[in-house]
Amino acid sequence: MKFKSPDQIALVIAIAGSMIAGVAVFFFLNIEKYNVFLTTTFIAVLVFIVVFLVSRITVKRFIISKINPIYKTIYNLNIKDEEIIDDIGNRDMVSTIQNDVLIWARKKTKEIDRLRELEKYRKEFLGNVSHELKTPIFNIQGYISTLLEGGLDDPEINIEYLKRADKSLNRLISIVNDLESISKLESGELKLNFQKTNIVSIVAESFEIHEAIAKEKNITLKFSRKFDKPLMVIADPKLILEAINNLIANSIKYGRENGATTVNFIDIGEHLLVEIQDNGIGIAEHDLPRIFERFYRADKSRSRDMGGTGLGLSIVKHVLEAHNQTINVSSKLDEGSMFSFTLKKA
Ligand code: ADP
Repeated sequence: MKFKSPDQIALVIAIAGSMIAGVAVFFFLNIEKYNVFLTTTFIAVLVFIVVFLVSRITVKRFIISKINPIYKTIYNLNIKDEEIIDDIGNRDMVSTIQNDVLIWARKKTKEIDRLRELEKYRKEFLGNVSHELKTPIFNIQGYISTLLEGGLDDPEINIEYLKRADKSLNRLISIVNDLESISKLESGELKLNFQKTNIVSIVAESFEIHEAIAKEKNITLKFSRKFDKPLMVIADPKLILEAINNLIANSIKYGRENGATTVNFIDIGEHLLVEIQDNGIGIAEHDLPRIFERFYRADKSRSRDMGGTGLGLSIVKHVLEAHNQTINVSSKLDEGSMFSFTLKKA
């Protein structure tokens, strides 16, 4: 027989007890004939009630004393035995416990997986950060040492080495700034300032910021057509400008001499699709799924040469996720790339 609760066990004991008591009264006590059924029934019922109540409490206490440590462990609680009796005493105890332990075990497994993942990420991230910082720091150290050891008086190298040290310092600053942005975005500490934002003027501002650097490669920054009316979206203007800056900067970094970066807006119902297209070096198909990962570079030497940190696209992805939007890329090696993302229209 499978008992589901202390009440069922108590019931069986009480029935057995009352039957034994009834039989004992019937056969062994000398009761006058007309009283025998009444007395037997009365004693059997009495024994039933007393045995039921006593065994119910005893069985419950026994089971609870065994499962209480489990409950206290899985819920990390300091519950009194009586509270557990109240809580599960009247339900299907065994299934309840099985269920609770199963739920607890699943939760713990998930938690352990998440912690393992975080630990792996932390190790990788620290390794990547120190690797990224090492190169510019050692470069600066090298240039300064050479200058201190007499290079300062050598007109052939003094200005050149100072310029190189300055370039490495700028690189360090970019890495630290990008790390700051990414850690703020990932920790969720950044409070987004959503407001009606004219996306056309944000892109125009980004064009202005990148005008000089685009000129160095004679790259034209343009809209696909004239957008004379504002296109209003709901966005955090500062963060969206940062994302667009990263995309425009990449289109120049990985663009060709005399090329062009074209921005287009397409109305798609509740959202506006923003497309940023270049005719630069493009991205190989096998690199495409990974370019949004932190520190991933498809073209490593060019990225480093151009001051890339490998964090730009990761920041862009985080910014868009914070807006509940996604970013897509399509690209062909040697032909160019197009990054597109949506924003909610205001
Ligand atoms: P980085 O600082 O190296 O530019 P990103 O995260 O911005 O880092 O980009 C990741 C990689 O994706 C880059 O190293 C580059 O290889 C590739 N990439 C990004 N944008 C473009 C683009 N417009 N054209 C070609 N390759 C690109």
